[in-house]
Amino acid sequence: MKPDVIVVGLGAVGSATLWQLARRGIKALGIDRFAPPHAMGSSHGHTRITRQAIGEGDAYVPLVLRSHEIWRELEAEGNEQLLEQCGALIIGAAGGSLFMHGRQGFVRQTVDAAQRFAIPHEILSPEETMRRYPAFTLAGDELVYFEPGGGMVFPERCIAAQLHAARRCGAAVCVDERVLAIEQIGDGVRVTTDRAVHHAAEAILTAGAWSPGLSSGALADIALHRQVLHWMTTDRPDWFTTERMPVFMFSHGAGAEDSFYGFPLVPGMEAQGVKVADENYTTRLADPDMLDRQVQPAEAAALFRDHLDGRMSGLQRQPLRSSVCVYSCTPDSAFRVGRNRAADRILVASACSGHGFKHSAALGECLADAAGGHAPLALAEFALRG
Ligand SMILES: Cc1cc2nc3c(=O)[nH]c(=O)nc-3n(C[C@H](O)[C@H](O)[C@H](O)COP(=O)(O)OP(=O)(O)OC[C@H]3O[C@@H](n4cnc5c(N)ncnc54)[C@H](O)[C@@H]3O)c2cc1C
Repeated sequence: MKPDVIVVGLGAVGSATLWQLARRGIKALGIDRFAPPHAMGSSHGHTRITRQAIGEGDAYVPLVLRSHEIWRELEAEGNEQLLEQCGALIIGAAGGSLFMHGRQGFVRQTVDAAQRFAIPHEILSPEETMRRYPAFTLAGDELVYFEPGGGMVFPERCIAAQLHAARRCGAAVCVDERVLAIEQIGDGVRVTTDRAVHHAAEAILTAGAWSPGLSSGALADIALHRQVLHWMTTDRPDWFTTERMPVFMFSHGAGAEDSFYGFPLVPGMEAQGVKVADENYTTRLADPDMLDRQVQPAEAAALFRDHLDGRMSGLQRQPLRSSVCVYSCTPDSAFRVGRNRAADRILVASACSGHGFKHSAALGECLADAAGGHAPLALAEFALRG
């Protein structure tokens, strides 16, 4: 069967897109160089933060709200929980005026978005925050935003469920097949892999950190940054249950790297520990295949020294486990989604900059609607720059 659309890369965005294509009756083929869900790209590590009021910009709010709806719909079809709305806590020093996720005044902008979109939330005083969440020590000048509808998404489960649903709707899936080139030929596309040459009317490039290398310059402004995640044993498990602890982001200084984030103990996976991480934007990775996947003991020590000491307690310093992941970042931290200008039968979607997972299910829906020219791509804010 010649597919109508080939999806290159079946991680967060690609698996969502493939399912949405297949459920619309579009003949779709998905190709991945590994066998998703896997730990080689940007979508592993059990959990991702989700929040409804999005400090990165109003354009994201409908995407995350729709993604939550889609995951709830998918949950109803299967047995696995994909989304846990245990709440999200965002703590911003200096009255929430500081830089985070590419936005100055990120926490203030989150509050403004919550008000504009009527998203239930509370503003907590630093004292109230420490009373409710005894793991945190605040300096006293923080703006603290609590959103009960925020929480965590389970990325590997979402990808597996989306691929399962895609296959059930008739999509073809090729794994362990690496795409080498995507070219527009006449009124279609040719996708060359290390195993075969595939033809279709259109292609959608959703290869995460590998997308720039396959995008013929359309994603030239993306920088890759190595990130490290740690899972810590807690000596106060009662502080870290989902009933007592929301997901959290804590910004404590003026720089892009002056923050940390984490999760409560995941129900059913308590033995894995409390996941905590910071963000790295300094070291640039030229090639995702050259990613250093070894985590040194000094990296966990630096997380405590630079972020947790004096701000968070209840965690033992020796990680149970650590893992490496990649951020694909644009200069303004915004997504890049659109048709390749030089080859308009190739749609490109790069949705990361460290905040893409929560929006990925709805992005898949937008991309599937746009494929075949069935609807304009309603994401003008994220237009490609290259
Ligand atoms: C440490 C970390 C923490 C994060 N925290 C959050 C968070 O809390 N909340 C949030 O919303 N977002 C978060 N993000 C961002 C979010 O996880 C990413 O935006 C999202 O997972 C990216 O999905 P993707 O589909 O673009 O890439 P991926 O899921 O990595 O998928 C790309 C796929 O393409 C495949 N591929 C690559 N090259 C080829 C090729 N040549 N041929 C075929 N297949 C190929 C890969 O194998 C992979 O399966 C975080 C990211 C990281 C790294």
